[in-house]
Amino acid sequence: MAKFIFVTGGVTSSLGKGILAASLAKLLQSRGLKVTIQKFDPYINIDPGTMNPYEHGECYVTEDGAETDLDLGHYERFLGVYTSQENNVTTGKIYQEVINRERRGDYLGKTVQVIPHITDEIQRRMLLLGNSNQYDIILTEIGGTVGDIESLPFIEAIRQLKWKLPKQDYMVIHLTLVPYLSSAKELKTKPTQHSVKELQSYGVQPHIIVCRTEMSLGDERKRKIAEFCNVDYDSVIEALDAETIYDVPLNLKKEKLDDIVLEKFGYSMLPEVNMEEWNVFLHRLKYPKKEITIGLIGKYIELKDAYISIYESFIHAGAKNECKVNVERIHSEDINKDNLKERLGLLDGIFVAPGFGQRGIDGKILAIQFARENNIPFFGVCLGMQMAVIEFAKNVLGLEQANSTEMQADTPNPVIDMMQEQKTIVNMGGTMRLGSYACSLKENTIARSIYGATDITERHRHRYEFNNKYLQQFEENGMIASGFNPDTNLVEIVEIPNHRFFVGVQFHPELKSTILKPHPLFCAFVKACLGG
Ligand code: GLN
Repeated sequence: MAKFIFVTGGVTSSLGKGILAASLAKLLQSRGLKVTIQKFDPYINIDPGTMNPYEHGECYVTEDGAETDLDLGHYERFLGVYTSQENNVTTGKIYQEVINRERRGDYLGKTVQVIPHITDEIQRRMLLLGNSNQYDIILTEIGGTVGDIESLPFIEAIRQLKWKLPKQDYMVIHLTLVPYLSSAKELKTKPTQHSVKELQSYGVQPHIIVCRTEMSLGDERKRKIAEFCNVDYDSVIEALDAETIYDVPLNLKKEKLDDIVLEKFGYSMLPEVNMEEWNVFLHRLKYPKKEITIGLIGKYIELKDAYISIYESFIHAGAKNECKVNVERIHSEDINKDNLKERLGLLDGIFVAPGFGQRGIDGKILAIQFARENNIPFFGVCLGMQMAVIEFAKNVLGLEQANSTEMQADTPNPVIDMMQEQKTIVNMGGTMRLGSYACSLKENTIARSIYGATDITERHRHRYEFNNKYLQQFEENGMIASGFNPDTNLVEIVEIPNHRFFVGVQFHPELKSTILKPHPLFCAFVKACLGG
């Protein structure tokens, strides 16, 4: 039987519940336990796939093709364990299931209500991952802040589960903020007290309170929080602001968070934490020997969360190369013919981001042309790869009107075109080419030497593809396809062999880069930018 930890948040959003859950899970994993994390989001969308990145940040994609919250990316990067469709549940999914059952007549004439029908379905989903006997501990992060109207059914479900799960298999951790008031020169515990009271008013008593703070809380404040919030003194955990999110597990270890959890769960005699490899990574991250600057050309650069997995992949690949990677975020709409050299001339490498729609693509194409013609390392992901294909068609093959049918349906040269199976699809949600697909790598290519393998798998999220009608023309002129889907022949990787580093991939390698396994393509790109 798995044990369950529920992580709630109070006072304000953006305190880092996802990082707290991932960090605690990492500590428990490093003591030999099998751990997974799931996220429950209170919004009504079925998944974040149809949301604008400005609304919700990046949409993370799992192996089995779920479009999920970006926190699942943190879970995978910290734990090195895949998540799945089951690991992200939204209010939309819960209601959809209940309404489908109602339409089938499953409720046998009853009035269908939030309590018990919605809260029962939430509980069923909360326990689902425990049915497989795969995990010792399942952490559940509840999105939003305690007190929000939309998260109430989730909190009620947690309350009810206290009565259904054995005492030693159930725990609630509440994350709050202890703000520093600079005018009073004091840390204030009142918001934490109020937030815990709010949680208690719904019938939920946290076992552990984790306090985000800029400054050490000190014994006295910890005692005050313990006393007024009804938790043990040693269960008030201080989470000081960290230099990097990858310090958080070790900071929480110093506060003995894992020991306290294990003790409350009744575990004894587990091995001590082994974070050797993690420490090696952190050392390399903090004491780099070299430094490079890469330009990330995208249209959501104002919001760091929009490309979070890409930024994290550069951190992993930088550490691997003992190199600090500065990522200069460049808005694709800010690039034009006149400022190209000034904006891009000093960069060690150019990365073109994924995306959808027309906005900003001219700047992306100009940046790619600049990288190609000046032998600057280039790496393009998904739309970035598609734009590299269009740039090559326009400027090398002389197909001036070349385009993707996503941008111009009637282009005379659709070098990027909608996949056949996409043409009859009407619904937008969950219908792209999603999740993990096989890719075979051609002999004597950059891709094959980077991966050191003939067959790989990578995750996808797109509707358009390279149009194979043009393949021969591309290959005869210097851009080759080095990776193919073995079943459909779809082009997955293009490269220019006669260039320092010019690689475009139709998939999203950033979704599979982790601390302990940085992605080979990001590592090779960083290496190329270093002049290697
Ligand atoms: N818009 C492109 C497509 O749907 C690329 C998608 C992406 O970059 N994720 O094919």
